[in-house]
Amino acid sequence: MVVTRQSGESLVKDEKYVWHGMRPYSPDATMVVDTASGAWITDENGNRYLDAMAGLWCVNVGYGREDLAEAAYEQLKKLAYVPMTQSHGPAIALAEKLNELLGGDYVIFFSNSGSEANETAFKIARQYHQQKGEGSRYKIVSRYRAYHGNSIGALAATGQAQRKYKYEPLAPGFLHVAPPDSYRFPESGASSEQLQSVQAVDNAMTWELSETVAAVIMEPIITGGGILMPPDGYMKGVKKVCEKHGALLIVDEVICGFGRTGMPFGFMHYGVSPDIITMAKGLTSAYLPLSATAVKREIYEAFKGSEEYDYFRHINTFGGNPAACALALKNLEIMEREHLFQRSAKLGAQLLESLRSALSQHSLVGDVRGKGLLVGIELVADKTTKEPLDVALVNRVIAACKQQNVIIGKNGATVAGYNNVLAISPPLTIEEADLDLIVKVLTVALETIK
Ligand code: PMP
Repeated sequence: MVVTRQSGESLVKDEKYVWHGMRPYSPDATMVVDTASGAWITDENGNRYLDAMAGLWCVNVGYGREDLAEAAYEQLKKLAYVPMTQSHGPAIALAEKLNELLGGDYVIFFSNSGSEANETAFKIARQYHQQKGEGSRYKIVSRYRAYHGNSIGALAATGQAQRKYKYEPLAPGFLHVAPPDSYRFPESGASSEQLQSVQAVDNAMTWELSETVAAVIMEPIITGGGILMPPDGYMKGVKKVCEKHGALLIVDEVICGFGRTGMPFGFMHYGVSPDIITMAKGLTSAYLPLSATAVKREIYEAFKGSEEYDYFRHINTFGGNPAACALALKNLEIMEREHLFQRSAKLGAQLLESLRSALSQHSLVGDVRGKGLLVGIELVADKTTKEPLDVALVNRVIAACKQQNVIIGKNGATVAGYNNVLAISPPLTIEEADLDLIVKVLTVALETIK
């Protein structure tokens, strides 16, 4: 297929009126997307692209699902809004459904975005310790390279300096430890407690004084920071360290949740039971804004000592709105009916294998890794030293894919040049033939920089 670049009036107006943040489809110009169906998006000039990075936005059931639109429409006609100081049927049903999926006893607080879900978790963690008479516990520990959101607190929890330094000072009380990275710092074979990446969390709590630490926040797999795979036992080890120091474990499932890694939630691979779980775009496959903070019942119960009005002084006008909740319920129904968690595991393993056999010998491919339909390809200038490939060359690979009508993402960190991981995360409904296309297109694209 020959790509015709977009041109024309709407791009001129876009340039004039719309302030874009980071350009996800860089290094090319903005694309004015018009329609989308399945794993394919179409721009307003009729060019079609396979969206192999839709998963970073969690369009997990694919684009163009009319039943999702209908679920929202029917709910909007019936009841468009109710503040969550009251309640409504779709929110109650969704909270119950999430409990079933989480396999635990959780109380759900609804918001609109991943950033808000994490902010809510931080406030809950801090107040929880106050309720228990441990008011000195306020610090939140997170990992370098992880992204947790754009607001001042969630950004403070983010371990990527390049996203932060222009907006400082951010919220105080956040500190970072080194993340596990099974490619650059393999630790396999060590027991949970002996893993250096677990000891990093333990040491931080000890030297910061356990009595000042409220919680640790982590993604099961660091996604935006480079698709970093933890060694076996890492999450279990961190959970044990949290218990030892009396801190809560918050697991950020904003990307890993809802089947991306081949399970309903990423933490389920690792045999832990988090205290708080945050989730967002995957709840609705990104069709409408909705997020949730799931909190273990015993934490929720600790809030009951104060005046009822003051249980948790936190309110979110749009959070848990009826249309988004109704759409989320339909989304989860589709995921289960179409076995999308299992499909992600199966197709992800196939994709990983095909990518490894097609690309591993390439002189610039350092590592091909992932879980489910979340795959990262780390490009390096030198396979022995693992020096990250220059971002200009990484961008050339992405551009060469787009030339062939496939959109792939780039994860990592511009700091120290670690902006070198290609991210592949298509909708979980992607056709097998389209997975083959991704492998083919990437193989050609990588030839352009050999
Ligand atoms: N946590 C993680 C792991 C994320 O990837 C993101 C955004 N991609 C967020 C939190 C923030 O979500 P939002 O953009 O909805 O605020």
